[in-house]
Amino acid sequence: MLKEVLRHIEQRNRFLLTSHARPDGDAVGSALACGQILRLMGKEAEVVLHDGVPRIYQPLPFADRVVRAERVNGNYEAAIILECDSVQRTRLEGLENRFLISIDHHQSGRPFAQVNWIDPNAVATAEMVYRLAIEAGVAISPEIATCLYTAVLTDTGSFMFEGTNEHTFALARELVLAGANPAHCARNIYFGHSTAKLRLLGSALTNLHREGPLAWIWITQEQMERVSAKEEDCEGLVNYALSIQDVEVAAFFRELSDGRCRVSLRSKGSLNVASVAERFGGGGHACASGCSLEGPLAIAVGRVLAQLRQGSSLQ
Ligand code: 5GP
Repeated sequence: MLKEVLRHIEQRNRFLLTSHARPDGDAVGSALACGQILRLMGKEAEVVLHDGVPRIYQPLPFADRVVRAERVNGNYEAAIILECDSVQRTRLEGLENRFLISIDHHQSGRPFAQVNWIDPNAVATAEMVYRLAIEAGVAISPEIATCLYTAVLTDTGSFMFEGTNEHTFALARELVLAGANPAHCARNIYFGHSTAKLRLLGSALTNLHREGPLAWIWITQEQMERVSAKEEDCEGLVNYALSIQDVEVAAFFRELSDGRCRVSLRSKGSLNVASVAERFGGGGHACASGCSLEGPLAIAVGRVLAQLRQGSSLQ
């Protein structure tokens, strides 16, 4: 499939690259790196993200070239969609009738494009982008390595999640040899937060609940507004609930301005939270997934908790 993706890239010249809304490190890092790889192949490549680049990823190379838009209008010959299981996950309009190439590593990944390269064994979509560069004979520059290393670092939870293995470290080694600076990458991500995010964490922790192996927190729209927090400030808050000893599964709920709720689910491995998210139309990985559902918040919390409690290991 990698060869087929490359063949389709070689046949075309003008590319749009995008990833999912509310992009995480793998979404941003993979898109930035893939865009540059295409440019080094002599192609035109523009990265368009519905929500732009979150604060902690703005120091990444090429991040300043990213276009933030709700609709795609350009005269592109193909769109490469990274880390998405549907066109809808991009939240971009105007992709429907284009030639689509999907590159994704999600377990819940579904073939929606004309060309679908889905590899759930890849530790991050960045690993697939790295393989693409090698197959294309493109040398990994320090800038590309920095984007890919940041993607791997964040998508493995700093090399802590299930699935991190000797291949992950071999990839990280290659990226460091190519010029990624681990301390520099980590500094931007873990020491680059806004004050609002820390205040939001304080608010979220006042809503911490625990029930045996289950812990959950939530944030209301009013709490978001009180500390002037942005959507991206919510990323990673769920991990504080998961960090409690003997908690196996954690959930983070966020009330949205339209009354719906966003949910982030995390597991230490005993429950597959992707299957829980899928019940509500979402998806992700066995240990990290997400979904959106109707409010009000208390009802959404109750519905998701009911599913989590049903998880065999939680009974
Ligand atoms: P997060 O909780 O950080 O938003 O997402 C965790 C993981 O689940 C990520 O890999 C993300 O791509 C995936 N995910 C989150 N929300 C959704 C969703 O609504 N649909 C699908 N298919 N995947 C999601």
